[in-house]
Amino acid sequence: MRAPRLELRGVARFYNSGEETVAALDGVDLIIEPGEMVAIVGASGSGKSTLVNIMGCLDRPNSGQYFVGEVDVGKLDSDDLARLRRDCFGFVFQRYHLINTLTISGNVELPGIYSGMPADQRRRRANRIIGYFGLSDRRSSRPNQLSGGQQQRIAIARALMNDASVVLADEPTGALDRRSGEAVLSVLKELHAEGRTIIIITHDRDVASHAQRTVEFADGRIIADSRQSCIQANSLAETGAPYARHNPFPAVVSRIVNAFAMSFRAMVAQKLRTGLTMLGIIIGVTAVVAVIGLGEGARNTVMNQLSVLGTNSLGIYPGRDFGDPNASAVVSLTAADADALAAQPYVDSTSPEIAASLKGRNGGLNANLQVSGVGPSYFRTNGMRLVAGRALTSDDVTGAHPNVVLSDIAASTLFKDTNPTGRTVLIDRAPVTVVGVVALPGSGDTALNAYMAHSAFRVRLVGAMPLANITLRIRYGVDSDLVERAVSNLLARRHGVKDFFIVNSEQIRRSTERTMATFSLLIASLAAVALLVGGIGVMNIMLISVGERTREIGLRMAVGARHIDIMTQFMIEAIVVCLVGGSLGIAVAFGLAALSDVLLLPLPIILSFDAILLASGFTVLVGLVFGYLPARTAARLDPIQALASE
Ligand code: ADP
Ligand code: MG
Repeated sequence: MRAPRLELRGVARFYNSGEETVAALDGVDLIIEPGEMVAIVGASGSGKSTLVNIMGCLDRPNSGQYFVGEVDVGKLDSDDLARLRRDCFGFVFQRYHLINTLTISGNVELPGIYSGMPADQRRRRANRIIGYFGLSDRRSSRPNQLSGGQQQRIAIARALMNDASVVLADEPTGALDRRSGEAVLSVLKELHAEGRTIIIITHDRDVASHAQRTVEFADGRIIADSRQSCIQANSLAETGAPYARHNPFPAVVSRIVNAFAMSFRAMVAQKLRTGLTMLGIIIGVTAVVAVIGLGEGARNTVMNQLSVLGTNSLGIYPGRDFGDPNASAVVSLTAADADALAAQPYVDSTSPEIAASLKGRNGGLNANLQVSGVGPSYFRTNGMRLVAGRALTSDDVTGAHPNVVLSDIAASTLFKDTNPTGRTVLIDRAPVTVVGVVALPGSGDTALNAYMAHSAFRVRLVGAMPLANITLRIRYGVDSDLVERAVSNLLARRHGVKDFFIVNSEQIRRSTERTMATFSLLIASLAAVALLVGGIGVMNIMLISVGERTREIGLRMAVGARHIDIMTQFMIEAIVVCLVGGSLGIAVAFGLAALSDVLLLPLPIILSFDAILLASGFTVLVGLVFGYLPARTAARLDPIQALASE
């Protein structure tokens, strides 16, 4: 620590108040030698504070020059000024300007954060200084739990954190009673004895008499400058190696870590408000994640239902379209059609279906069965799962064997808990053998179904009956649209008229997929609007918070925070609010998904990692975008005006 020589040459500072221009300083020439203790006296409004603010690099002169050591302050940018403040000057204000959301230690450590002092060193030094002021037991108290005199001593401790060689005190005893004022003054005298330059503004002639030099102001000019004698000593000054200020990387990391810590503290200090602000983000994120999950769930449900139709298969039905009232009267699809189609090179298999509702009986147990005459590939094409015995074979079809496969529900209705395979059941009085049991896809299906080879079904039960439909499985790798056209041509040629219609599962799947995608995008954008509204809420509250914390911002600047530090802090606050809100929103969405699962809601919510990632990314973006304006507002504050604000 070696105090620089301070020199003002013809310094002037003007303020525009309404029409007229007030000269707070009017051509001041002043040299302060290293290690001097100077009292600045004068009537209120004579320009003392303005002078001290300019000397501490919080303010700039409108004209004239100011040198700190060899450095011409007029040539520095605002970051250089901030650096000079934090490395060289320590401020003590009449109203202490301690930050109430920080502990005593936190307040004292603050300048160390901006100078990039390592955390452990910062803590040790803060503890030592607080100990020196006899307030060790109050380290974790809040400033407002201390008396005025104690707070002012903490403010001086803060000024010493970066080992300031020049202490600027603007009426430090102005708000204190006589005894506390004397204690503060004796501390300043000790600091002077260590070789620091002490510049102290006071109304009090008594206080001024402690200093060896008194400079008197009137109307922005020096009207008297008188000197006494001088003494020197040393104790609180850093003697060991100075802390690593020139390793920028850990300094940046520690500054960001500290900004996070401080933003958490600011959030906790205003729990209700933070919670309400977050609510907007929570709702927005929940909406985005849940809506994307709902879309995904709906897509899955529809695709599952479509896969019942079988992938890459065509359904051929009698009539011109779904719901054709004449469909059942038209004898259009015959077993011969199915055989003709099966012979085509692009066809893997066909599965003609005839259906009738017939009575089934096993001893005393009865059931109204929906009996279908099907081909051997029917089960595979329709995605049915065999749970017992075997499915129907082509042998069953060619031999028209009286075998039947029951649905699991039909089996349990007719055979209770016993194993039905190999047993005989009477269908419409014809005995048939149960060879297998299948589970139907889609749990909603409660129909009592039975399946026989279509040949056996016709021969033994219903006679020559038209087919209900033909399911056609397309050979692997052949385009379903081409097959649809070929099938249509073939059948139209065979029938002479187009008395059938074809359902192409692939086409349905594709068009459904397209519709769903459009729909999902639409709802997701609505949800995004909710998130945006949440973001605007964050911006609002942040702006209010900047307004309320103006003095804190001014203080941070006074102890060496650069614009970018203030900016970073408020940006991080916005992002933290958004991230915490976002995490809660994701948690709520998970809760909703679990709930819809438990309640077996028809529309499941399927949360994908992508959706969560998207929502998180979007929230951070919201924080960045909506935090920017408040952060910039904060960073652009003028430190002096900020400190003077109520
Ligand atoms: P002191 O500290 O000696 O009481 P100041 O340096 O605070 O005096 O003020 C000097 C003069 O400058 C006063 O006339 C005051 O009204 C004026 N002044 C100070 N700050 C401002 C400001 N921000 N805007 C307008 N006038 C100001
Ligand atoms: Mg003043």
